[in-house]
Amino acid sequence: MTIVPRALLLFDIDGVIRDVGGSYRRAIAATVQQFGGPAPSLAAIDSLKAEGCWNNDWEASRELLRRSGVVPLPPFAAVVEVFNGFYFGGDPDGDPGQWQGFIREEPLLVEPGFFAGISAAGLAWGFVSGAEPPSARFVLEDRLGLTAPPLIAMGDAPDKPDPTGLLALAARLEGTAGPLPLAYVGDTVADVLTVVRARSADPRRPLRAIGVLPPHRGAEGPAGPYGDQLRAAGADLVLASLAALEPFTLAAALRGDVPWPPAA
Ligand SMILES: [Mg+2]
Repeated sequence: MTIVPRALLLFDIDGVIRDVGGSYRRAIAATVQQFGGPAPSLAAIDSLKAEGCWNNDWEASRELLRRSGVVPLPPFAAVVEVFNGFYFGGDPDGDPGQWQGFIREEPLLVEPGFFAGISAAGLAWGFVSGAEPPSARFVLEDRLGLTAPPLIAMGDAPDKPDPTGLLALAARLEGTAGPLPLAYVGDTVADVLTVVRARSADPRRPLRAIGVLPPHRGAEGPAGPYGDQLRAAGADLVLASLAALEPFTLAAALRGDVPWPPAA
């Protein structure tokens, strides 16, 4: 029996599903330092990300080097190699059990049973992430135990905020039932802008951008300055964390059966 979903719920991974403050963010800082720049603070990385176009952490690292006046700038390939040395600490395409890098320091932000609850509410779900495929598969399959999770990762589609990957995964999940209402959950301005641009690309589809605070900004609450940035970019709702999301109410609000925003 094929169950037609009522709506679609897609997730960013980093800062939403796993805490990358001690991994990706730390690898950016270590990479900048390795090439002779001053290690950027978490706040400095946040403010770069708030510009909305630095979703790729290799490009973000190189941009921070450029802004700190490092000359000559290292070749992009060298930045990638150093960054991946810190992040994976082993062959990204090899056995994850051999990795020794910061990827081992990523607290999960959802319970393994979270996605069963989403399915029970009639929501089809998947992931649209700028993480490298081995890293995304590691957290989804090895750590959360998901089997063949629907995933668009780096290289599968243009980087966010380009909405191509988001809309391609939506089409894959809904099949001939579409266009179904869609919400995308992310923690950065680029995630919100992805939804804003998807509206122009796919005007018939109801689309909502749900922002969540990354863990290192959680203490300020959804009404704080980080939430303001996400709302200013176009977020329809900002939550302190995924735990505040009630799947049945969200499904009803996405379909217009109850008013938006869904009570959190
Ligand atoms: Mg993220």
